[in-house]
Amino acid sequence: MKKTKAEQRAWGKERLPIKWARLGSDMAETYFGKELRRLQRGLKARGRRWVYVPYDQVTDFLGPLSREDPRDLGIVLVENPWKASRRPYHKQKLALILANLRHFALEQARRGISVRHAVTRGPYRTALQPLVGELGPIRVMEPAERELRVDLEPLVKAKALEFIPHEGWLTNREQFFAGAGESPPWRMDSFYRHMRRKTGILMKGGKPEGGKVSFDQENRQPWKGDPAAPSPPTFPKDQIKEEVGRLIEQVFSHHPGRLDLDHLPATVSDAQRLWEWAKKNCLPLFGPYEDAMSARSRGLFHTRLSALLNIHRLIPRNLVTEVERMKIPLASKEGFIRQVLGWREFVRHTHSATDGFRLLPGGEPPVAKAAGDGGYRLWSGKPWPSLKGPQDPDGGAEPNFLDCQSPLPPAYWGEKSGLACLDQVVEDVWAEGYSHHITRLMVLSNLAALLDVRPREITDWFWVAYADAYDWVVEPNVLAMGTFAVGELMTTKPYISGAAYIDRMSDFCAECRFDPKKNCPITHLYWSFLSRHERLLNKNPRLFMPLRSLAKREAGLKSKDRAVFKNLQELLSAGTAVRPEDLPKI
Ligand SMILES: Cc1cc2nc3c(=O)[nH]c(=O)nc-3n(C[C@H](O)[C@H](O)[C@H](O)COP(=O)(O)OP(=O)(O)OC[C@H]3O[C@@H](n4cnc5c(N)ncnc54)[C@H](O)[C@@H]3O)c2cc1C
Ligand code: SF4
Repeated sequence: MKKTKAEQRAWGKERLPIKWARLGSDMAETYFGKELRRLQRGLKARGRRWVYVPYDQVTDFLGPLSREDPRDLGIVLVENPWKASRRPYHKQKLALILANLRHFALEQARRGISVRHAVTRGPYRTALQPLVGELGPIRVMEPAERELRVDLEPLVKAKALEFIPHEGWLTNREQFFAGAGESPPWRMDSFYRHMRRKTGILMKGGKPEGGKVSFDQENRQPWKGDPAAPSPPTFPKDQIKEEVGRLIEQVFSHHPGRLDLDHLPATVSDAQRLWEWAKKNCLPLFGPYEDAMSARSRGLFHTRLSALLNIHRLIPRNLVTEVERMKIPLASKEGFIRQVLGWREFVRHTHSATDGFRLLPGGEPPVAKAAGDGGYRLWSGKPWPSLKGPQDPDGGAEPNFLDCQSPLPPAYWGEKSGLACLDQVVEDVWAEGYSHHITRLMVLSNLAALLDVRPREITDWFWVAYADAYDWVVEPNVLAMGTFAVGELMTTKPYISGAAYIDRMSDFCAECRFDPKKNCPITHLYWSFLSRHERLLNKNPRLFMPLRSLAKREAGLKSKDRAVFKNLQELLSAGTAVRPEDLPKI
C-alpha cells in the first residue's frame, strides 16, 4: 500500500530544505552550549595534553582518559553535519551519536577535563587542522572506521595527529593471523578457538568448559511465545536528548526512520541500565533462541548492546568478563562470548586486513566513486541530497563474486512487498534502527541475495538503516556473510534459504498470503539462485547436497523457478506487492 504524503514526509521521501546555518552557529545559545560553558568556567585550557575523541570512542574507560590526570587533559569533540548527510542515515542513529557525544562532553567537563567542541561541514580533518596550531599535537586512539582513518591520514603524516592503539579491541592483528591463518580463506571458528586458548576464557585445565568450544548446534530452537520475551528498556529523557531530538527533526527531517527518544540511551547510566536489563532478561535464554525470529518480538532474547558497544559506551572486555562469571547455562554463556570475542573481532580484522575489501586474493575490486544511497533513489524517485565535495572519500569497495546487478527493491524502504517476513522485518528496522542477527541474515540479506541485488547497494542500505552500522562491521557482515560478494574469503558458503527455514524458525508465515509449503516464492528464488550461480558454486563442498537436489529437480519446476525470479524482480523493483495470483502458473 502506498504511503500518504504526510507519511512519506515523515519517512524522508519528501525532501525538505536543509537548514545548515542553524547547526553550529547557534550552538552557544543551546542548552548544551550553555551547560558546557558553565562547567568549564574557570578551567584553564592552556598547557594540557589534547586527545581527539571520535564519535565512536565516547568512553573514559580506555586510553589516556582512563589513566591521565583530568587536570592535564583536554579533549576535542567534533559534530559533523557533512558526515551525517552523506548518506540517508536513520534518524535514530543520528540522534544516538549526537546525544552520546554531547553527554560525553558534559561528563568529561564535570571531571575537570577541558573540552573543545567543534562543528564542521567537511571531513573531520578540517575541524582538527586549525586546532593543532593552537593546542599542539593531538592524540587519538586509532579509529575503528576506515573512512575516518583515511580522512585523518594527512594530519598523521604531518605529525599533527598521533594514532595511539585503540584499547577497545579484545584481540590484535597477530592473534588474528595466528588463529585464522596468515592468508585467506579465514575462518571464524579457528580464530575463536585460538582466542579461547590464548585468553583462557571459558577454559579449564587447557580444555574448553563443557567439553566443546561451541554450543552453536544446540542453540537453534524456534520460539513459540513461552517464555515471554522481554520488552526493551526505556531511558529517562533529559534536556540534551530533547534538544538533539528537536535538532534532528529540524535539520535532518528529510532522513528516514522513526526518532524515539524514550528508547535512546545516551549517558553512562543509560548504558549501565541497558546492560543490567540484558543480563537479567536476555542472557539466561540467549543461547536456545539465538536463531529464532518472531513478529511478536523484534529482539527476542538478543541483548541490543551493539549500538552502545560500537561507540564504546559499553566496553567489550568488561561484558565478556562479567558474562564468564554469570551463573547461566553454558550454551548461553558461550553463545554470547562467541559473538563478542569471536565474530565481532573477526569481522573487524578481516576488514582491516583487506583494507576494507580492496585487497582480495582474486584481485582488486572496483571502488564506488561516491557514497551509495542504499536504494533511496529508486524508492523515492529523487537523488539523495548529499553535498559532494572534492575532498569526499569514495563510496567503498564493490566486490561482486556472483556478479549480481539488480537494484534493491523499494520494499526495503517500506513499500509493501507482499512477503510477510520481509515486510515485518523492514518495518521493525525503520521503527528503531535495529533488528537481530537472524532477521538481518536470513530475511533481509537472504532475500537480497536471492534477488541478485548489487552487494554494494544492500550494504549501503544496512549502513544507513541500522544504528550500530560502521564500515568495519557492516561491510564484512553484508559483503561477506550476507551476499557472498567476496566468495569464500571468510565464510564457507552463501547464507541462503527457502521458505522452509523461515517457517521453521519464525512465526512470520502464519500472517502471510503465501503458504511456505505450497506456493512461497522464496523457495523458487532459492532454487533459481542455485541454478543461476551453479557454475561458480559447484566446487563448494558445503553446497554439494543442495546442488545434487537441484540436479534432480524436475525441468518444469526449474522453469517455474526462473519465471518466479523474473516475475518477483520486476514486481518488487517497481515497488509493487506480490500476490499469489501474480505468480507464473507453469
Ligand atoms: C547482514 C548483516 C549485517 C550486519 N550489520 C551489522 C552492523 O552494521 N553492526 C553490527 O554491530 N553488527 C552487524 N551485524 C552483526 C549482528 O547481526 C549484530 O551485531 C547483532 O544483531 C546486534 O544485535 P544485538 O546487540 O542484540 O546482538 P546479540 O545477538 O545480543 O549479540 C551480542 C553482541 O555480539 C556482537 N556480534 C554478534 N554477531 C556479530 C557479527 N556478525 N559481527 C559483529 N558483531 C557481532 C555484537 O556486538 C552484539 O551486540 C550484521 C549481521 C548481518 C548478518
Ligand atoms: S510464506 Fe514465504 S514469503 Fe510468506 S512469510 Fe513465509 S517465507 Fe516469507
